[in-house]
Amino acid sequence: MAGLQAKYPGESEYLQAVQEVLESIEDVYNQHPEFEKAKIVERMVEPDRIFTFRVTWVDDQGEVQTNLGYRIQFNSAIGPYKGGLRFHKAVTPSMLKFLGFEQTFKNALTTLPMGGAKGGSDFNPRGRSDEEIMRFCQAFMTELWQCIGPDQDIPAGDVGVGGREIGYLYGMYKKLAREYNTGVLTGKGATWGGSILRPEATGFGALYFTQHVLHHAGKDIAGKRIALSGFGNVAWGAAIKATQLGAKVVAISGPDGVCAIPEGITKEMIDYMLVMRASNRDRVEDMATRFPDRAQFVAGKKAWSIPCDIALPCAFQNELSEEDAKELVANGCWCCCEVSNMGCQPGAIHYFQHNGILFAPGKAVNAGGVATSGLEMTQNASHISWTAMEVDDKLHTIMQCIHEQCVKYGTQEDGSIDYVKGANIAGFMKVATAMLEQGII
Ligand code: GLU
Repeated sequence: MAGLQAKYPGESEYLQAVQEVLESIEDVYNQHPEFEKAKIVERMVEPDRIFTFRVTWVDDQGEVQTNLGYRIQFNSAIGPYKGGLRFHKAVTPSMLKFLGFEQTFKNALTTLPMGGAKGGSDFNPRGRSDEEIMRFCQAFMTELWQCIGPDQDIPAGDVGVGGREIGYLYGMYKKLAREYNTGVLTGKGATWGGSILRPEATGFGALYFTQHVLHHAGKDIAGKRIALSGFGNVAWGAAIKATQLGAKVVAISGPDGVCAIPEGITKEMIDYMLVMRASNRDRVEDMATRFPDRAQFVAGKKAWSIPCDIALPCAFQNELSEEDAKELVANGCWCCCEVSNMGCQPGAIHYFQHNGILFAPGKAVNAGGVATSGLEMTQNASHISWTAMEVDDKLHTIMQCIHEQCVKYGTQEDGSIDYVKGANIAGFMKVATAMLEQGII
């Protein structure tokens, strides 16, 4: 860690993600001198390669805009590079390195053969028209297409990149590469190679995982109050499944504040989350304006100020601080499953773990999204489409298997499960063993 800190000062998210994994695997690593001999850790923390490119496009006013684009191919030990694209104004190489590093372990947990990658741009979709989004995606792909391929690197969505963006990206890829293999991107539309349930998969998988955490602790999800952060694709899928399982979603949030929903979110409100996402306004207050009888907007507050049983961060890294964790617990929260990547700050995780709160990390909880991308790749490669029931069954099985891996590697002396350790060690063992078997490359 000291070496990395000196080498990459200021790359705080990347250093935070690496530190969490190294702390978890320390004991296991020391039991395997062959890992040390092959310098597995030193090799694993560095991306295989990073592409950086300029993206120039023209906005609706006719002004020329320039953004930066990136693709980080992190690790290919267990399969081709796989991971999403993030379009957000705060995107930096440090952010994408942390996400690519996490993705490597997450993908290993899914049981599917996928390496880790991440990419994106500092392009800010907020307030942009549909035409601007299309022109940006097309300009982005004029560089990206040369780095990707169905057996090489398969991007998908992430924050700021959903079905609409994947459509524009795929259209431009076909035109440039003159290749019509749908397997080059996942998260596609259902009529042109996309998997049924991919849009819902991250949220559904997160709720299946949460159910396993609860069952293992002798609890049930029905009737529980759930606070969600965000209102994008992940929060949307989580709200649908939580409601189906009989839980009550009592909060959603946005950069402008939180909507408290004391009676629980309804189907109409869940549908409206999609309208809010498509508007590019990035305001959760719109929910309270549209449903004034059910949702009360509080400006500047987070979802963690609303009393709940279960907290599900679904928005952005480090969105839940130690102070937030204390407020949640003081208000009765007893479980937090991270759905966003690295959604909790280290202080929050320590606070949860030291106060007996059930806590599970993003790389286990949210792996259903990329796992269903893997299922989309399989369908594309074999030119078939599975039914919703087939995909949901496979997603269920994968989330159960991830939970079992956490139990295997994370069971403590007192019988409780340290899900952070469990997920990190399980992912590490798989990637490290593959690297070792493939020699020094
Ligand atoms: N961006 C998602 C993640 O963080 C999905 C990636 C994918 O489907 O490739 O796992």
